[in-house]
Amino acid sequence: MSSPTIQGLAAAPGIAVGPLWIHRPEGVVIERGPARDPAEEWRRVRRSIERSRAQLVELGGLALARVGPVEAAIFEAHQMFLDDEEFINAIRTGIDGKSLTAEAAIEDAVTVYADMLLALDDEYFRARAADLRDVGLRLIRNASGGEAVTHTLSQPSIIVADDLSPSDTIQFDRQFVLGLCTARGGPTSHVAILSRGMGVPAIVSARFDPDALAEGTLAVLDGEAGTLTLEPDQEEINAAQQRRGQWLSARALAQSVAHEPAVTTDGVRAEIVANIGNQRDALSAIDNGAEGVGLFRTEFLFMDRDDLPTEEEQVASYAEIARLMAGRPLVARMLDIGGDKPVPYLGIEHEDNPFLGWRAIRMLDGREDIYLTQFRALLRACAPTPDFRPDLRIMLPMVSTMLEIERGRALFDRARQQLRDEGLPQAEHVQFGIMVEVPSAALLAHHFARHVDFFSIGTNDLTQYTLAVDRGNARVVSLASPFSPAVLRLIAMTIDAAHAHGKWCGLCGELGGDVMATPLLLGMGLDEFSMSPSAIPAVKARVRALSQADCRAIAAHALSLATNREVTDYLGGL
Ligand code: PEP
Ligand code: MG
Repeated sequence: MSSPTIQGLAAAPGIAVGPLWIHRPEGVVIERGPARDPAEEWRRVRRSIERSRAQLVELGGLALARVGPVEAAIFEAHQMFLDDEEFINAIRTGIDGKSLTAEAAIEDAVTVYADMLLALDDEYFRARAADLRDVGLRLIRNASGGEAVTHTLSQPSIIVADDLSPSDTIQFDRQFVLGLCTARGGPTSHVAILSRGMGVPAIVSARFDPDALAEGTLAVLDGEAGTLTLEPDQEEINAAQQRRGQWLSARALAQSVAHEPAVTTDGVRAEIVANIGNQRDALSAIDNGAEGVGLFRTEFLFMDRDDLPTEEEQVASYAEIARLMAGRPLVARMLDIGGDKPVPYLGIEHEDNPFLGWRAIRMLDGREDIYLTQFRALLRACAPTPDFRPDLRIMLPMVSTMLEIERGRALFDRARQQLRDEGLPQAEHVQFGIMVEVPSAALLAHHFARHVDFFSIGTNDLTQYTLAVDRGNARVVSLASPFSPAVLRLIAMTIDAAHAHGKWCGLCGELGGDVMATPLLLGMGLDEFSMSPSAIPAVKARVRALSQADCRAIAAHALSLATNREVTDYLGGL
């Protein structure tokens, strides 16, 4: 009889074998009031905020030392909640207006704001509700004088929990964490991001009741299949141990040569670059062996604030990234917001179908000024100096028509001319490209290729628009496979169109960092693979084990298949 298995979603690759350790967060009992002295309640809130801030600084340091800069940024984001005036005012209103205790006022404000985040269309922001709850719990504990929870894991274990906050996750002693399994969360929740950064296999959204599991039960966690097998027999244990050994040695090997180029066995070099959103990601990219940046998501500078960043602010921020890249290619994507991304100060009106609405390059209609300022800032930030020659490339997001390329290019030329007229130094030899993430752009790529220097394929959006699946809607998201032959054909068409016009083609959707797709994309002739920094060592290792000649045959076969299941079965079996 086979052992009982719990099924979840794969969140971080790898295999773990060990006893279960069940995480049971301590509940806090909250007195609601009425409070006798509102002034004293407010003082308790203030003290709690300061104490929480100090703890978060410490946790950020811990994350930096134990995992890396990207993960440390999670705790910086937590501190931002403590500086959010609206959120803090909502706590104050609870105390002054409803005579609540400090703890109850915090609890209510967290509930209101977490619900607001959960109601948004964007999966990223929905996942931030868990962060806000984590901060809220910390504030409540500190207000009531409780000590911070410390996790006492005393032997290597697979941690099982209903949910794990980033603070919980980072505080576990890394040497004792074999794997993580949570009942909640999705592949983009922070427990998933942290476990990938820590190199710990993890599964999320697993169907089980933590209260029904016994502490110490032996289990096998498979971070690729998304399974947790309870009480495995000796044969299953041996097989899992063997796979774990293979996984660990492959990872160590990949890491040790992450800074070497990725060249196939028949001598074709693939350019392996990173997707970044800020300076910390840029550092992580370099640490992981990135040869440049294939997607700089500039929108992060525009979010979580009350007004547009000024040109000077943008120049400072972009120059910092360019300096870190030290002459390596830096592909900056123009602002990709609007529609589903909450940037309240832009006054974006409600739209019934925000993914089909006024977003990204479509903002040229009405807010050309924003793009003009951004072009100027990027050009100024990358002006060469005697010891600094940035390789800036700029691309437009979500292009669907030729007119958008023409308008974008005209505005770019205007920015260049303005800087010349003003005598301000600016970048030289800037490549101008577009993202191909709307089917119309892929279908017309042979026309568009004449007017750009490069393409970068955004498979996240290309998949959503090709298959008509909202990428953030949990109900249908399982239909959104970039391995769908329909998406693959559009990818192949785009690469061929670029090459027919002597242009290069990259890919910066999540597919780029998936080692299962590496032979397929190499076989299609993709020039540049852009991915999250942590995926780089493994993709480079995969490239080195392949020959482009074989990959061409693999791609041709995959393109002839009819379903994504056939494609993944075929590629998974290679
Ligand atoms: C994409 O759509 O594939 C992409 C890389 O852009 P984003 O995920 O930022 O929409
Ligand atoms: Mg996109």
